[in-house]
Amino acid sequence: MPISNKIHGLITRSSWIRKMFEEGLIYKKKYGPENVYDFTLGNPNVPPPSEFGDALLEVAAQSIPGKHGYMPNAGYPETREAIAAYLTAKFHIPLTADHIIMTCGAAGALNVTMKTILDPGDEVIIPTPYFVEYEFYVDNAGGISRLVPTKEDFNLDLEAIRSAFTEKTRAVLINSPNNPTGRVYDEETIRGLAAIIEEKGRLYNRAVYLVSDEPYSDIVYDGIKVPFIMECCKNSIIAFSYSKCLSVPGERIGYLALHPELADLQDVLSGMIFCNRILGYINAPALMQRVISHIQGVHVNVEEYKRKRDLLCEGLSACGYSFAKPEGTFYLFVRSPIADDVTYVRALQLRRVLTTPGIGFGGPGYFRIAYCVDDAAITNAMPGFADTLKEYQN
Ligand code: PLP
Repeated sequence: MPISNKIHGLITRSSWIRKMFEEGLIYKKKYGPENVYDFTLGNPNVPPPSEFGDALLEVAAQSIPGKHGYMPNAGYPETREAIAAYLTAKFHIPLTADHIIMTCGAAGALNVTMKTILDPGDEVIIPTPYFVEYEFYVDNAGGISRLVPTKEDFNLDLEAIRSAFTEKTRAVLINSPNNPTGRVYDEETIRGLAAIIEEKGRLYNRAVYLVSDEPYSDIVYDGIKVPFIMECCKNSIIAFSYSKCLSVPGERIGYLALHPELADLQDVLSGMIFCNRILGYINAPALMQRVISHIQGVHVNVEEYKRKRDLLCEGLSACGYSFAKPEGTFYLFVRSPIADDVTYVRALQLRRVLTTPGIGFGGPGYFRIAYCVDDAAITNAMPGFADTLKEYQN
């Protein structure tokens, strides 16, 4: 085989999201795009805020020597300063540019983190359901993922996490607001998790990090507060991305923020800056670094996603589906009326409603709806959702 057995195996069991998306393309060709209701990909459809376009034009027009050249691998100092100043003003942690590393989105940030902190065989605890790429990121660094189910309501099961620790645990990787469940972990939960991390770090006499993947932290509803991880846990690393909050996932821009009191801070920083270089990124895109340094705190109109969430939740409730209303993100994780979520997703597909089975997120018995779509797609998909449920209830 021309590719490695390992990659062949990973491709085979990898992405249900991609699989459903690609099948959707075939459907769209056959039935016309307006007749296929595609809820597979988390590709934001709310337009970027006008401030993004304005900053882009301004930066593009600037004449700066070396504008398109190589830069320090951690990113432009002024961009990192702008982010540190924004975070410090908003929260109670004194961050400086030295605690920030610019990355190619959250995916880049997480790969850099795993490559930096994991020795082969080190373990990362990941609550499920989860963004399934995590397993590949951990594997890229030679680590092992320890998957730990969340509770029935998708909140962290702290006792299960405590039990999953071993002397090889190096990190706990969380994602709140969560893809695929839309759950936001509250401050008490994060503090509880931080206490476990500290306790286990002492027990095994090694640094254990809380890695918080936060691409959706600005997309929350109903006044819900996303706790600032650094206020709860000293050994915390934040992986942030502008992909979703500015609707620019193709531009590949994000950052890592490290707690000023992180264990072995200088070593971890040096490791991350090095890994940003050797994983193939070299540095985060120059143009985007300049753009985002002008628009800290700006994000898409979250009310638009809220409207879509409400439209979807009201429609599905009326049909008789059961789910926990998302507190953030643009995903809804719905209980499948039959245990076999793949069969159910296939049945929806026959009605041109494309979703992703829960097994694709380590959450069997559910399916995910990405509602970053036109309102019309939500409304027009409802008969398909209703008829499929009726078929399986009888
Ligand atoms: N983490 C989660 C939970 C995601 O949902 C995604 C993308 O959908 C990513 C990370 C990757 O984000 P980015 O495209 O900014 O690298």
